[in-house]
Amino acid sequence: MPARRVRRAPTVRAGRFPVADPATGEVVGTAPELRPGELDAVVDRARAAWYGWRTDAAARTTALCAAADAVEAAGTDLAPLLTREQGKPLAESRAEVARTAARLRYFAALDHGPRPLVDERPVRSELRWRPLGPVAAIVPWNFPLQLAAAKFAPALAAGNTVVLKPSPYTPLSTLLLGSVLSAALPADVLTVVTGREPLGARLVAHPGIRHVTFTGSIPTGRAVARAAADTLARVTLELGGNDAAILLEDVDVDGIADRLFWAAFRNCGQVCMAVKRLYVPARRHPEVVEALAQRARDTVVGPGLDPATRLGPLNNAPQLARVAHRTRQALAAGARAAAGGRRLPGPGYFFAPTILTDVPAHSPIVTEEQFGPVLPVLPYTRLDDAVEAANDTGFGLGGSVWGTDLDRAEEVADRLDCGTAWINHHAELSLAQPFAGTKESGVGVAGGPWGLYGNLQPFVVHRPEETCP
Ligand code: NAD
Repeated sequence: MPARRVRRAPTVRAGRFPVADPATGEVVGTAPELRPGELDAVVDRARAAWYGWRTDAAARTTALCAAADAVEAAGTDLAPLLTREQGKPLAESRAEVARTAARLRYFAALDHGPRPLVDERPVRSELRWRPLGPVAAIVPWNFPLQLAAAKFAPALAAGNTVVLKPSPYTPLSTLLLGSVLSAALPADVLTVVTGREPLGARLVAHPGIRHVTFTGSIPTGRAVARAAADTLARVTLELGGNDAAILLEDVDVDGIADRLFWAAFRNCGQVCMAVKRLYVPARRHPEVVEALAQRARDTVVGPGLDPATRLGPLNNAPQLARVAHRTRQALAAGARAAAGGRRLPGPGYFFAPTILTDVPAHSPIVTEEQFGPVLPVLPYTRLDDAVEAANDTGFGLGGSVWGTDLDRAEEVADRLDCGTAWINHHAELSLAQPFAGTKESGVGVAGGPWGLYGNLQPFVVHRPEETCP
């Protein structure tokens, strides 16, 4: 009998941790595990660098634009590495790199100069905005680069320095991004730190950090808010979502089916503001289920580096287990899979794109955030019931309404209890808009000038009018 070849896992050096390729389960590379004493030194250096970085707004604009150019130039290295550790199709990684550069340029160009406030005898007062100090930016694994940029671009443009901590599932592309940026920025203005928990918790609790800007799940968001209470650092939280989409009676199913499908399944459903529940008039339900199920069956699932792939794997084994568990739970409670419904064979964390019908309304696949390629399609007979069900949740990130009569759709959208409501599309954001979840989906505002001011402290100077020039 021929000897069986045993494939050895690569050895991981002490002080480093392995990062898996979700398409194969194999190790892509390793990242350094920051030791406790090293974090103090990083934050001290970030504070020292802040004294210079905060002084010259014009120099910051120039440096951040140069940083954006450097990110674009490094796209041919960044995008494949992102795909290898995150799983998304290469075209989506390229788009993520482009969005990372775009965020740097957008915030570099935003002005936050002084403004007169009151000019009434005997006082004149002026509002000036001041940076806060070292900012901790903590990011999840679904969009490691663009979510990092959504934090460090406004923080740096405001004159703060940043300590950036990626998820331990996706540290490699962020480390590369950090080294690309360091060529364009002064030393220690942006530092990437990597490690497994409790690194994030230690960073949040560090007394040298003046603002924690966090994106991730609601339970971790609560832990971050509790820890920051001790230092009274400012906290911005962008948390989970369970967005509902409501189709109206007059919806043009053929016209919207592609857009609706990808609003739920892009990035393998691992998008905070993906469509995660779909409410459909009972009369149109079979037609909608079939249109979506057909697309689910036709979607090419595979490794992100394969040019034919439209849907990659889930990012990590616990997430695959969570999605599989929630789907099994729904099927056991009477749901039916019109497409998919199971893990795909072979190595890697692949799950078949899944359309579920006959799902009990209180099944966790409806009430919780699945964060995977599974969409429950729920029929309704009264529109008021659909709106009530959409709002009957602790989540409040986004929502959408789809129909031919746009005024009617807008009336319904206006009744959604969330931060952003779309009509006939979902999850599209411009850099200039505020992004803020209601209820448990977030605290504070990201995006647009609001995102910049979230990184600034108002400072008001009053002076008696007679001494004004
Ligand atoms: P997560 O909460 O598990 O982890 C997010 C980050 O926090 C990671 O870097 C992690 O290492 C770190 N972390 C873990 N414990 C910590 C602690 N005690 N203190 C500080 N940091 C800690 O989330 P995830 O699984 O990486 O990401 C998925 C979640 O992120 C989903 O719920 C999704 O909806 C949400 N998300 C929200 C937005 C948004 O803008 N609202 C965007 C993307 C993702």
